[in-house]
Amino acid sequence: MTLEERIAAVKERIAAAAREVGRAPEEITLVAATKTQSSQTIRSAIAAGITACGENRVQEMTAHLDDDAYGSAALHFIGHLQTNKVKYVVGRVDLIESVDSLRLLEAVEAQGAKLGVVQDILLEVNVAGEASKSGISPLEAPELARLALEMPHVRLRGLMAIPPVAHDAGANRHFFHQMRELFVDIRQNVTDNVYDMDCLSMGMSGDFEDAVREGATLVRVGTALFGPRMSAAQDQEGKSWG
Ligand SMILES: *Cc1c(COP(=O)(O)O)cnc(C)c1O
Repeated sequence: MTLEERIAAVKERIAAAAREVGRAPEEITLVAATKTQSSQTIRSAIAAGITACGENRVQEMTAHLDDDAYGSAALHFIGHLQTNKVKYVVGRVDLIESVDSLRLLEAVEAQGAKLGVVQDILLEVNVAGEASKSGISPLEAPELARLALEMPHVRLRGLMAIPPVAHDAGANRHFFHQMRELFVDIRQNVTDNVYDMDCLSMGMSGDFEDAVREGATLVRVGTALFGPRMSAAQDQEGKSWG
């Protein structure tokens, strides 16, 4: 299959999963996880209908930005972000999906203040409580959301999660369900502006249909669009998922 055909196939699967549960396919944005891809591949993907790209390494993203690879597509940062690299990301991306600690949240706020910008963010939740992964615990999420709402240079748009790699169909559905409940709870009970809280980012190549069935508005898909990446080690850098 060509890249265009794979993009069309993933979009069709998203639409089918949405319709199964009575959702409109337009409610879901396919975010292409572009790590390890070349600027040329990213351009081809955008030409073939990708409207949002997710990057998880600052250095790669910076190189692609210098190349103007993303064109009119939205740019999301989805990887583990070190506080000393916040300056390369805040104000340059549409959404930081992976705010995974109070320390990082404060660093994003500080950089936003310095630049005079409001940065859209999601809080990354370690929904399965995996020791190897970053992310706040579901129990901490409401409090961190409350703190984010008080920060003038941060706009909380929702939550993101990276559950364990799904080996069986349906294996992660309960985690997605739990994320949806947490998202609704925070939207209703913590935020006073429910309209800003419109993003629930969950689902990857192995499980995005279940994520859509459980309410995802953003799915981050790499392998199903671009094929297998060169080496698993490349993915592990920054321990953003695994
Ligand atoms: C790589 C990556 C994805 C996509 O993973 P695939 O299994 O290749 O679809 C999604 N989210 C994050 C944070 C990633 O780093």
